[in-house]
Amino acid sequence: MMKTTTRIFNFSAGPAVLPLPVLEQAERDLVSLPGVGMSILEVSHRSKVFEDVLARAEADIRTLAAIPPNYRVLFLPGGASLQFTMVPMNLLTDDRTADYLVTGVWAAKAVDEARKIGKVHVAATTKAEQFTRVPRPDEVVLSPDAAYVHMTANNTIYGTEWKELPNVGSVPLVSDTSSDMFSRPIDVSKHGLIYSGAQKNMGAAGVTVIIVRDDLLARSAATLPSMLSYAVHAENRSMYNTPPVFAIYLLGLVMRWLIGQGGLAAIARVNERKAAKLYSEIDRTGFYRGTAQKDSRSLMNVTFRLPSEALEQQFVKGAEQASLDGLKGHRSVGGIRASIYNAFPEEGVDALCSFMREFERRNG
Ligand SMILES: *Cc1c(COP(=O)(O)O)cnc(C)c1O
Repeated sequence: MMKTTTRIFNFSAGPAVLPLPVLEQAERDLVSLPGVGMSILEVSHRSKVFEDVLARAEADIRTLAAIPPNYRVLFLPGGASLQFTMVPMNLLTDDRTADYLVTGVWAAKAVDEARKIGKVHVAATTKAEQFTRVPRPDEVVLSPDAAYVHMTANNTIYGTEWKELPNVGSVPLVSDTSSDMFSRPIDVSKHGLIYSGAQKNMGAAGVTVIIVRDDLLARSAATLPSMLSYAVHAENRSMYNTPPVFAIYLLGLVMRWLIGQGGLAAIARVNERKAAKLYSEIDRTGFYRGTAQKDSRSLMNVTFRLPSEALEQQFVKGAEQASLDGLKGHRSVGGIRASIYNAFPEEGVDALCSFMREFERRNG
């Protein structure tokens, strides 16, 4: 029987909207996985049932991003924030410097954690422009002995996104893709390591996907605590300890859904169309003001201001009454933020555009 569950349009930055068919399947399977008679929450992580779930999630991720065979895919707990620590712990050796491209709050946090481990060089930053854009290629100045270069692919709070990867030569590029992973094609072979907390665009909170080139595993010192070592996790295929089984299961469902949508090139076209609608509404009259510079505009997090903070408060409140939830900007920057991840329906973007036009008509 169909249930009449009402869903509203969820613009939250994360945890964020999930595809409805994924939630429905998780609900159907929660008490008993088909043919298993037990919930995914109840089976051993060493069982064939879970091994299959893990293997399929990995295979689908590999298919989606055409991951070359010399890369390992890991599923780790601790969020993207733990990667701020694990990356330098594993990849930064005493004799070298870690280069960071500082494009926002998350990038700055990554720097703070790396400084606790070793030598850090800020190879470019747009802080002087309040992070309203990402650096141009000619602004990136790498250290001669760089152990790696760390970037944040999409700046969730500022609504900016790298359109092209920075040129780092042969230095391993490490990318935090937490808020735009699988929103568009990604060339894994240009990276040394990619990490992405799942709860924005890949699934539920509790698991972080790490894609790491296998030669870099040799940098993990044997003296590292096991739980903080990429080498240990890779050797144990993400099963050194009990992995976040439910989060991995759900991520697997989202990857299946994404393949059903036609993969990364297809979802990128939808994402471009959704974002273009919203940005053209923002640019239409000047009542709304986009905060990101145009060539850095994110397809995932669309940030804008209204003429006053009072109007912004009124906007958020009115939007909530119109079933448009989660539009308040991050507390550190204010304003409005519409997060429109893969699973966010295009009708929701249309609904927001209509609401914006009507709000401007009444208050402009
Ligand atoms: C949300 C976010 C993080 C932090 O993720 P956690 O899983 O909460 O640790 C890090 N980087 C970016 C780009 C994010 O959007």
